[in-house]
Amino acid sequence: MSRHINSTRLVRTYNASTVLRTLYEHGHCSRSQLTELTGMSPATITRIISELMQQGVVLEGSHGKSTGGRRPIYLHIDHTKLYVASVKLLRDDCIVALLDLKGQILAKEQLQPESLSPEVLLGTVATSLRTMFASLAIKQEHIIGVGVAASGICHPVDGIVIRSLNLGWKDVPVSDMLGEDLGLPVMLENDANACALAELWLGNARETTNSMYIKTESGAGVGIISNQTLLTGSRFVTGEIGHVPLIPGAKLCRCGQRGCLEPYVYFKAVQERYHDATGQHLTHSGFIELARGGNEFARYAVQEAASALALACAHWGIILDIEVITIGGVWGNFKHEIVEYCQEYYDAILEQSVIPSSVTILGSSFDDVADLLGAAGLVVSHWFTPASVPFER
Ligand SMILES: [Zn+2]
Repeated sequence: MSRHINSTRLVRTYNASTVLRTLYEHGHCSRSQLTELTGMSPATITRIISELMQQGVVLEGSHGKSTGGRRPIYLHIDHTKLYVASVKLLRDDCIVALLDLKGQILAKEQLQPESLSPEVLLGTVATSLRTMFASLAIKQEHIIGVGVAASGICHPVDGIVIRSLNLGWKDVPVSDMLGEDLGLPVMLENDANACALAELWLGNARETTNSMYIKTESGAGVGIISNQTLLTGSRFVTGEIGHVPLIPGAKLCRCGQRGCLEPYVYFKAVQERYHDATGQHLTHSGFIELARGGNEFARYAVQEAASALALACAHWGIILDIEVITIGGVWGNFKHEIVEYCQEYYDAILEQSVIPSSVTILGSSFDDVADLLGAAGLVVSHWFTPASVPFER
């Protein structure tokens, strides 16, 4: 029994996590290399490796060259035996998921919380994650943490949702509440920021230095990667551009101003306009079908979104000298009508103003799981610091 208790705590002990971090950073190491790199004694390394191997977290691989004695055996992490939980928190879209260290989503569940109050919603998240771990027979000690992507202004260090109009939250200590309930470390980030990180690590923005993710559909916000690092600003409001008037002569926004991007890309606003005009409910797929089929309402909504997004891309992209812009959500599916339109608009501005720059505008690589990948990646990169790319694919 005591052995079981010890082993369940092993992965999170200081020595074991140091060994794992070293293996993560260096890839393959022999036991003697680990001794050198960690400064631990050979006996400690041998003991920790043997326990990590018993748990299946570390594997022996190829043999190295002999330097006189026995040939060393290289060790590596089994990236499919350590896990990260991930949570997406938006008013109409709450999802929990479990990923491995390759960033593969092993399980995913859409939640139907009874209310959006922090206690109820976070309680529902914890319950469904526990059920997910149990149904996949995953030991809690092999889960390195939980990443949460939430709509709103988030304090990533304190793990607090400072303000979320979308969830109706103010000063909610998400990391503490969820962390205490699950007994796991929790990292929090704004949803657009999480999406920008997912594109940086695994998607459109790999190999780029400066990129931007425009989050649409559930509102409008931007995640910015500057010098391969998330730009957060002094008060974590970088990218909160949904209600900064930009479009001349525009629609009245729910915030009371005219000219915001949100009414053009917030899908619920489009659904409401459609309902007012026809009395019918519009789904995502239904909307895409209508637009492609030439329906006047849908085509006009796409044109309006294209004009608004083109302005947004050009203004923010040129300010930040961005290389890749990802348009997330349903609008990124309109390759010709929106993505290419924004690209042409941007290119024309660069040409007219003789700015020696360029941009590539794309739809998202991940559909609706960008938030989950980004939030999970934050946990991995935090756990394995200083490795800068969290997923081993
Ligand atoms: Zn507004």
